[in-house]
Amino acid sequence: MNDLDNRIKSRIQAAQRVLVTSHVRPDGDAIGSSLALGLALLDAGKHVQVVLADGVPTNFKHLPGAGMISTRAEGDFDTIISVDCSDLKRVGKALEGYHAPDIIIDHHVTADPFGTLNLIEPESVATASILTRHLADWGLRITPPIAANLLTGLITDTLGFRTSNTTSEALRQAADLLDLGVDMGFLYYRSLVKRTFIEAKYWGAGLTSLARDDGIIWVTLTSADRIASGYQGNDDADLVNIVSSIDDANVAIIFVEQNAGKTKVSWRSLKPEIDVSQVATRFDGGGHKAAAGAEVNGSLVEVRERVLMATRESLKQQFKN
Ligand code: 5GP
Ligand code: MN
Repeated sequence: MNDLDNRIKSRIQAAQRVLVTSHVRPDGDAIGSSLALGLALLDAGKHVQVVLADGVPTNFKHLPGAGMISTRAEGDFDTIISVDCSDLKRVGKALEGYHAPDIIIDHHVTADPFGTLNLIEPESVATASILTRHLADWGLRITPPIAANLLTGLITDTLGFRTSNTTSEALRQAADLLDLGVDMGFLYYRSLVKRTFIEAKYWGAGLTSLARDDGIIWVTLTSADRIASGYQGNDDADLVNIVSSIDDANVAIIFVEQNAGKTKVSWRSLKPEIDVSQVATRFDGGGHKAAAGAEVNGSLVEVRERVLMATRESLKQQFKN
């Protein structure tokens, strides 16, 4: 164990009241990692609250411990841990009135880690992979419910072990988690395959806006689309995965209208040589080479125009180099 691991271990062992949080619009890794760590800390006898500002989307409600997630923290905490979140802004209201995290555990590249102890391993496919590797070092057990959450993080961030960063280690970890009695088929189906009728209607509304120009394809989801379909979330319901399966373009973008004059933008690279995190950074967002996002101030129409222009420029620059 290295020095950082030892310091995290001491911090965790001394902790009594722990708040675990992650980013807004939580994905499978954010939820799986938060719950895995939350359940492991509970198992070690701590008082734990898992707080996600946007709560749990329907397709993750089956996860063991999902019922313990709340959208606001209550009471005092001696230890705050953030997982899978590279920017303090992205925890949203979950930490309103609380101190910045004592520990952050993440696999995103960050210029400015915001915790006191920062465990950042960008080569890991998921934050759940980092937890799978380290929980035992910190004196925490992986019980079957914890394994189900860890495997969900691994499965979702690799889109079912098919992203280009999938490592043999991730597959070995998945195998070890399966040995604990986890039903991978069920988790895979619930988190990556199964969709509600309402989500499909919402996708349909988005797909009618599908456009392409200069090697960029994009889709727009408006608040009106959400009202018309009955979709309760403020995200794209993973429509981005459908759009990024389209072959004949370089980059896919989804624009999702948010409240309060903001627009959520998601970029996906459709070619291994194209890095979309470069353009996301220009909008104060982040992510990885293949998938990046940002929440941009401005109306849908205005942000779309600016983002399309900047993405064109970024593509031109990357093709030049
Ligand atoms: P998505 O487009 O699915 O929301 O996110 C794709 C990737 O970009 C993920 O790794 C996610 O963490 C990151 N990302 C998405 N939105 C933001 C953002 O507003 N800020 C930062 N720093 N990263 C983001
Ligand atoms: Mn992740």
